[in-house]
Formats: sequence, C-alpha cells, structure tokens
Amino acid sequence: MELVSFYQNVLSLPEPWYVDRVVCYPDAKMVDVWIKHGESLFHCPKCMVAYSVHDHLPERTWRHLDTCGYQTFLHARLPRVTCILDGKVTAWVPFATPQTPVTVELERKCIQTMLECTMQGAEELTGVSVRKLERIRSLAVARGLERREEKPLSKIGIDEKQVFARHKYFTVICDQEAKSVYDVIDSRKTERVAPWFAENEGILHDVGTAAMDMSAGYASVIRNSLPNAAICFDKFHVVQIMNKAVDSTRKEEQKKLSEEQRKLMFGSRFCFLYARENLPEKQKDKFDEVAAIAVKTSRAWAIKEALRDALSLSPPDFEPAFKKWHWWATHSRLEHVKKAAKTLKDHLYGIMNAVEYGITNALAEGLNNKIEAIKRAACGYRNKSHFRIAILFHCGKLDLMPKLTT
Ligand SMILES: [Zn+2]
Repeated sequence: MELVSFYQNVLSLPEPWYVDRVVCYPDAKMVDVWIKHGESLFHCPKCMVAYSVHDHLPERTWRHLDTCGYQTFLHARLPRVTCILDGKVTAWVPFATPQTPVTVELERKCIQTMLECTMQGAEELTGVSVRKLERIRSLAVARGLERREEKPLSKIGIDEKQVFARHKYFTVICDQEAKSVYDVIDSRKTERVAPWFAENEGILHDVGTAAMDMSAGYASVIRNSLPNAAICFDKFHVVQIMNKAVDSTRKEEQKKLSEEQRKLMFGSRFCFLYARENLPEKQKDKFDEVAAIAVKTSRAWAIKEALRDALSLSPPDFEPAFKKWHWWATHSRLEHVKKAAKTLKDHLYGIMNAVEYGITNALAEGLNNKIEAIKRAACGYRNKSHFRIAILFHCGKLDLMPKLTT
C-alpha cells in the first residue's frame, strides 16, 4: 500500500489516472506499476475532441525512468474512443505516446540524451536500446516537422553532402535565417532536386538569395525554379575550391621531393588547410619548416589566403581586389591554382552576389561541421533515411519533445 502511494506521488499522474498496484522485485532491481483510470472523457489524439470510452485495448507495458536504481515499468490498458472524424482510435494519454515503448518522461530524457551524445552513449545512459532510440528519434522528427510553421523562406542554402561510400550524395537545404536545416534530399541529381523545389513552391516564392557551391546542377535548378532568387557562391564554398587547389599542389610537389624532405612533410597536409589566423601555436613551427621545403604549395597557400582577404572586403572594393587576385593566380605557374582561378572567374556573378548580399560562411561552415560530426558518430549509417532523420534531429531546430498536456 505504501508503495502504491509512493508511486502515486512519484509519477504524479493527472486525473483520472491513478496507481492501482505495485510489485517490486528487489533481487532483479525491477518494479512493475499498474495504472488505471477513473470515470472520464478521453481525447481523440488527432483532433483532441473528448469522447466517452468505447472499449479498452489489451494491457501494454512502457519502460519509465528508473526509480532509485530500479528499472520501472508501467502497465495499463489504454481506452479507445470513437471519433466522428477519425473513427475508432486509441485515446490520447498523458504518460505515453502510442507508438513508443517508453513513457513520455523517458522519451523526453532519451531525446535530450541523443541531442548531447552518440546513439551508443545514449543507449548506455538511458538503458534504451539503439533500435528503440532510433524509433524515438524518427517519431520526434516527424512530430517536429508536423509542428513546424510553414512560413516562406527568404534566404536558403543548398549544399551537397557525401554519405556512405563514394558517389553517394545528399542535398541539404538550409534556412539561412533560422540557421537550421530545412530538409534533406537523398540525392544531388538535378532530376531529384528539381521536384523538391516544385513540391515546396508554397514556401519558396519569396526566396531572395540561394547560397550554394559551384556545382552547375544546383544553379540551374534555382534558375528554373526560383528565377527571382540571386544565386550566391558563398565564401565557404569559394575558399573550398582554393583549398582543394592547395592540396592538389601539395600532393604533386611532395612526389618530387627527396626521401628526407618527404619525411619532414609528413602531417603537413593540415598545416596548409588552416587559415592564417587559425594556425595552432604548435603547428606554426611545423608550418614554417614545411613552407621552406614545399615552396610551390606555400605559394598556393598564400594565394588562397589573399582570396580570403579579398572576400572579406566591402562590395565596391571586392571587384578590383578580385581582378588583382585573379591576375596573380593565373600568372602563378601553378596549374591547380590557375584552374581554380578560372572556375572562380566563370562564377564571379554569384561570388559578387554573395559579397553584395552579405552571405556569410558561418552558417554553411557550422552546419557542415555538425553534419560531419553526425556522420562520424554514426560510423556510417545503416540506411539513408536514418541519416536524413539524424540531420533534421540535430540541425533542424525542430520542436521535438512530446507534449505532457492536451
Ligand atoms: Zn478525432
């Protein structure tokens, strides 16, 4: 009896629910709690209209938060109501959502934990298996998408993301104002991306800027689907092209070095990827050392840094600075740099748009890092839809939590 009133207090179930019976298994560190309801109306979970009970489903069990180290299970028979609109449905109950094997309290804890750590970590901390956590996560995302206000987007970002092995790409659509991922398309092919724009026309008609990398596919989709949107190649993607040129220059130069020099170059790849101001203290000496050996690479790196400087100028200063930069890059006698400079010149209209509209790279870069971390934490997703859900779960800024009240 004491246990019953203890759990009555601990669970603080709202009317008309009450704890009927508790059985404790000290050896197994487990406790079973049966709950029942008194006379009441119940709500249809879809339209929230209240009805009297039609019948009850067989008993079901939910895992709850542990009490004092005891694994705690709730048992109940859920009432069903006959809704005029939705037919015979399981009534809304305050302690569990119908599709989950855990109570709302534990579901909330699982969501919080998954937001903070890997699935394996969340399994360890909550005692809920990865398979069940995946289910909770996908329900949370579905809930969040359903709750999301469908207001028009004004600034979007379109980015390709490599997943799984080579040649598998996703397209990530960002809402640059909300600083969140809006959707994920499981392809980067024009014929798959264009229909998404057609389907979402309702929220896209006011898009003013679309930031992206220079892959031709995305720009043509935007030109066809959103003819009024300014195509912007943001700093992050522009610099990415030069970073690749620096890296290709380094690989080529490294091949021609002596055995001894090559040893010194070991681990230098990262030195050249850093921006000047971000070069860590311990890498600085290493950088000076390798820059003296790999003269071509360090020249390519300096050209990349000059491009970054030009990109941070105000719109009127940018164009002349770019011209100067372009001259330097095309006269550098570095093949990869020359090629990158040509690509950038061909896409100058979009680079200038990005400078003019002040499209910063903070968002693209931030989300990119976050998605890379999601990929690492997942050690390769078992299927594509899990990856999409994980991105929306972590980067969608969705209202994920199940509600405790009607
Ligand atoms: Zn209904």
